[in-house]
Amino acid sequence: MKKFTFLILLLMIIVVKSQVTCGTPQNGIVQGFRDINNTNYSNTPICINVQFHIVRDSNGSGGVSNAFVDQIVNLLNSKFNQHNIYIRNAGVDYINNSNFYNTNDSYFSSIVATNNNPNAINFYLVNSCSNWAGRAEQIVSRNLVIVNSYAQTGVSAHELGHCINLWHTFHGSPAEPSSGSCAEAINGSNCNSCGDYVCDTPADANVGATQGYNPDLTNIMSYSPPANLDHFTSLQGVRMRDALDGSPVLQQVKSNLCGGITGESIICPNISSTFSISNPNNYQVFWSVNSNLSVVGTPTNSSIVVKSATSTTSGMGVITATINGSTFNYQVWVGKPNIEVQLNSNSNYVDIDLISGEGNNITLQGINSTTWTKTASTNNGQAGGSGFSGFGHGPNLYWTVTLKITASNSCGTTEITRVITPAPPGPCNETLKLTKISKNNYEAIIIDPCSGSNTTSTSKQINTDNPITAELINMSGVRVAIFNKNKFDLNKYNKGYYIIVVTKNSKKIVQKILIE
Ligand SMILES: [Zn+2]
Repeated sequence: MKKFTFLILLLMIIVVKSQVTCGTPQNGIVQGFRDINNTNYSNTPICINVQFHIVRDSNGSGGVSNAFVDQIVNLLNSKFNQHNIYIRNAGVDYINNSNFYNTNDSYFSSIVATNNNPNAINFYLVNSCSNWAGRAEQIVSRNLVIVNSYAQTGVSAHELGHCINLWHTFHGSPAEPSSGSCAEAINGSNCNSCGDYVCDTPADANVGATQGYNPDLTNIMSYSPPANLDHFTSLQGVRMRDALDGSPVLQQVKSNLCGGITGESIICPNISSTFSISNPNNYQVFWSVNSNLSVVGTPTNSSIVVKSATSTTSGMGVITATINGSTFNYQVWVGKPNIEVQLNSNSNYVDIDLISGEGNNITLQGINSTTWTKTASTNNGQAGGSGFSGFGHGPNLYWTVTLKITASNSCGTTEITRVITPAPPGPCNETLKLTKISKNNYEAIIIDPCSGSNTTSTSKQINTDNPITAELINMSGVRVAIFNKNKFDLNKYNKGYYIIVVTKNSKKIVQKILIE
């Protein structure tokens, strides 16, 4: 019996050890800093300061090294950079306190009050804790404590995620009974208001892939073995960026010192241009460029010289630098503009947008002027434009205009000639409706979503290959009359109830009417 109890105890220890044990309170106030579907969400890099506090025994022994901290920064950047969040090591200090070194949750407040840097997320590294592997002060906060042996696992990113407004993927489920929140439905239908409030993380009840759940057990905010905690989803990234944009608590942790590449926004053929990266610690920098650029000479740990790949290159250049675990990309336009038109029409009017010929944002090409010139037309088509937008129109759907468009930047002028014409009518689903317009007079209306209006023109219908037909059938089932037009006068027929069947192409309506 004793052996059995011991085995169960051992099993429990193994289970606990194999998962994240997180001490972050899960019953805090739920804060959303922006509608997560907000399309105006900006994608500029956000740099945050993280201040490291290495806790040692009271006599100054123990504690991790600065190199260990560098590895934590690298690991955090490898998880956060893809969401355009960059982690900056804002400094390392030491706290000698045996109660903090081998600690428990009752010391949490005292630990995070020590050497606290108000302009950083404060990251305390302790030797052991009897309650958890890591804890953030609360969800949205500037303080977290991690046990050293977990600091180079996903637990560090997990607790930092809590600081930046992420909840557990199983938040509100029975696995967090006192959260005061609601569980996400298995189909995710309530994903905006329950669970972790993030819609691209599958519902999770911390029961694995059972009971109908199919959770992502490699998500950093799940309870999985630390080695499995791999990534944040893109909407978790958005939620963190929104918190960094909007949370008053987090405003002061942002920095502009994460580095990044600086240089010209446009380079012209045969001209070399230098791009720099701030690298005060002279870490090794790994540079690369895309196929629109070529490297001149040998890059250093602070700069790279590039030029256009060929004398006719016209496209987006990308310079990439990897430094201390962070990857920075810099976009520079190479050469003359690369333009194309995009037409949007659902009638005889055409919107013309000038777009990038290679799919990126046209405003990145350094374009300082455009011209729009009509060089030919048919069927009285008209067209023109200015800047990046133009228009075309004509009396019907069968006109054309030949437009010459030029765009210039500091490298030169690009000219394109395009024939503008409205899109042909689409496979629009017409619907029919029979309406009474006066005593014993009826009208069949075609509701045509392509024209944007109801079509009732009799002459138009009779001249088409498939005109409207309307059959008048009496209550004995005998066809009394047939009309090949959409308005019909029934005054000459006997009074009483009839059936009218209106047919247009494959559409048919059947309606009972009374001739008075
Ligand atoms: Zn947690």
